[in-house]
Amino acid sequence: MHNVILKPGREKSLLRRHPWVFSGAIARIEGNAVAGDTVHIVAADGHFLGVAACNPGANICARVWDWDEGTRIDAAFFHKRLETAIGMRRGLFGRKPDEAERLVHGESDGLPGLIVDRYADVVVVQITSAGCNRWRDAIIESLQQITAARAVYERSDTDVLELEGLAPRTGLVHGSLDTPVVEIRESGIRLRVDVAKGHKTGFYLDQRENRLQVGRLAAGRHVLNCFSYTGGFTLQALAHGAASVTSVDSSADALQLAREHVGLNGLPEDRCEWVDADVFQYLRKLRDQNRRFDLIILDPPKFAPTAASAERAARGYKDINLLGFKLLRPGGLLATFSCSGGVSADLFRKIVAGAALDAGTDAQVLDQLHSTPDHPVSLAFPEGEYLKGLMCRVG
Ligand code: SAH
Repeated sequence: MHNVILKPGREKSLLRRHPWVFSGAIARIEGNAVAGDTVHIVAADGHFLGVAACNPGANICARVWDWDEGTRIDAAFFHKRLETAIGMRRGLFGRKPDEAERLVHGESDGLPGLIVDRYADVVVVQITSAGCNRWRDAIIESLQQITAARAVYERSDTDVLELEGLAPRTGLVHGSLDTPVVEIRESGIRLRVDVAKGHKTGFYLDQRENRLQVGRLAAGRHVLNCFSYTGGFTLQALAHGAASVTSVDSSADALQLAREHVGLNGLPEDRCEWVDADVFQYLRKLRDQNRRFDLIILDPPKFAPTAASAERAARGYKDINLLGFKLLRPGGLLATFSCSGGVSADLFRKIVAGAALDAGTDAQVLDQLHSTPDHPVSLAFPEGEYLKGLMCRVG
C-alpha cells in the first residue's frame, strides 16, 4: 500500500470527511503510485486519514473511498456500495420500471467520479475519475447483476475527463439495444431519451420534480421556456393547461425531439412556438418587440464549473434574469435556475436580486428549488449541491 503524506495542517478537510485531496496539500507520495491505485492518506504526524484512489498528475490528487483503515478496495467493495445506493432509492422512492432515476450520484453516494442513471430498463454509466476507471469492469458487472438491465451504455464523455487525464469512452458495454433512443415516463409524460447523443447521460433527471412543480403553475398562462432542451418543462406546462408555450434552444435536434414529444403525448401543437436561437439574443428581441409572458423558465447550461469562473458566470445569470424580469406581466412568475457548481445558492440569490432591482421590479421568492432527492448531497460534500433554483413572483 502506498502512502500519500499531507503537509502539516492540511488534514482538516479530511477530518470533516470531505473526500478530495488537492495536489497543494500533499507533502510527498511514498512509492510510485500511478493513477487509480489505492493509497492511504496520512497526516503529517503519521495519523491515518482515509483509503483513497490516487491520481498523481491531477489537481484533485486523491479521492477518498472510505475512512476506515481496514477497508479493502476490491470488486466486493464496489458491489456493496452500488447495492447500498440503488437499494436506498428502491426503498425510498420506488420509481417504476418505465420511469427514469439517478441510481448513483458520485461523491454523495461514496463513489467519487461515478454517475449511474436508469432510463426504464437501460442503465447509463459515466466514469470520470481515475479510481472508478480502474474498477470499471467490476462496476459494470455489479450494475448488471443488481439492476438486471436490458443494456448498460457508457457515456464517459464529459469535459472533466481531461482534468483526470482520462480518454473519453462511449458505447454499449452490456446487453443489446436496437436503437439508442429509450422511452421513459416522467410524471405521466412520455419522453424519448437518446442515451448515445443526448446531453449528460441523455436527459436532465435532476429537474424532474421542478418540471412538475413549474408545470402545475402554468395553467392558463403564456409561458416562455428558455433553454428548453427536449421540452421537459414545455410538456409539463402544456399538460397542465398552459395557454401557450414558447420554447427556445440553440440545438435544432433538441427542439425537434421536443416537437415529437408534443405529438407523442397528444398535447396541443397549436399552443406551441419553437425558436431555434441564442437565448441571450432572443430575450433582447422579445423585449424590443414588447412581448410579455406570465411564466418564464430560465434553465441554462452550466456557466461556471468551478469557483474560479464564477464571475463570468454571474454576468451571464444577471443578464438573462434581468431580461426575464422585464418580460413578465405584473403578477408573473420566474422559475430561474443555476447548475453551476462554482456559483453558491447564496451568490445566485444575490445575482437574481440584483437583476430584479435593475429591471425595476419588486419580486418575492415563493420557493427555493433543488435537484430531485435521487441526487442526494452528502453533508460532508457541499459541492454536490450544484443545482439551485428560485421561484419568483413579480409585483
Ligand atoms: N430545461 C431542460 C434542460 C436544459 S439544458 C430540461 O428540463 O430538460 C440546457 C439547454 O440549453 C441545452 O438544450 C442547450 O442546447 C441549450 N443552450 C445552451 N446555450 C444556449 C444558448 N446560448 N441559447 C439557447 N440555448 C442554449
